[in-house]
Amino acid sequence: MNKALVMIIAFLFSFSAFALGALDDGLTPAQRYSAGLMFSGAHDSQELLYCSPAARAANIPKAIDNEVVLHVFPNGGSIVVKDQLVQINKIINSTLSTLSSDSAVKNRSVCTGFYFEESSHVGNALSMGEGYLIFDYRLFQFLYALPDEKRSSWVYEFLVLHEFAHQLQYWNNDIEVSKTLNRLQNSRTPELAADCTAGALLRLNNLNLSPILYAVSFRGVQGAAEALGDYKKTADDHHGTPAERLAAATYGSQLIQQMRVSILMGLTQPTSSDILKSCNAYVTSH
Ligand SMILES: [Zn+2]
Repeated sequence: MNKALVMIIAFLFSFSAFALGALDDGLTPAQRYSAGLMFSGAHDSQELLYCSPAARAANIPKAIDNEVVLHVFPNGGSIVVKDQLVQINKIINSTLSTLSSDSAVKNRSVCTGFYFEESSHVGNALSMGEGYLIFDYRLFQFLYALPDEKRSSWVYEFLVLHEFAHQLQYWNNDIEVSKTLNRLQNSRTPELAADCTAGALLRLNNLNLSPILYAVSFRGVQGAAEALGDYKKTADDHHGTPAERLAAATYGSQLIQQMRVSILMGLTQPTSSDILKSCNAYVTSH
């Protein structure tokens, strides 16, 4: 190869590495917020402009590439990780815009991705205080395999909003999360409160949906709650039984339903702090 050409290629390569390095502040979404940087919204963790590659590498264990196939549909079509992340980010971004007047969510951002968790057999999902929402790809495969009568698109909405509810807990310095982190209780209360919050956010995001369509879509929540509940009541990571998870999500949904008319008339706008408070009160008394 021509020597000048080699030098140009070498220059371009080092320049792009330099540009990427200069662009990469190495900060997690939570660190960016603390530093007063104006990032907001949910982004694919592989989007270099919004999610630091260095912070991603340090915080997402066993990240899964964007082109991995999550599910093949009977008609031959398929969905890859990247497509699913678009859907996940859409759900979070529409929730952030629903809560736009809420001071706890202002200038907040999250980075989303898929990963593989060795210690789990069916997959897991994590919502990290650093600002990452990550999903074991097998968990999505498991949900795609649920029978039709247990599944609506809200199976995924519920899962994503449950994980996003944990971010709202972090952003509001939630007392029940602190108790769990300080080992004063297991994870049941903050987990069921996240289910309740997810139910509330689902209703808040779909205020115009007629009661009949809402009831049909809500079947997906039932499917997810049943599939994701557990009976390990004394375990540190107990999430609530299937019946408790569904009851908590239903309570959250009804909480917003009761205010529906006044929200639509612009007379009231519940904040994430209001929702978490009501959900914590419900879960701790049940
Ligand atoms: Zn959870």
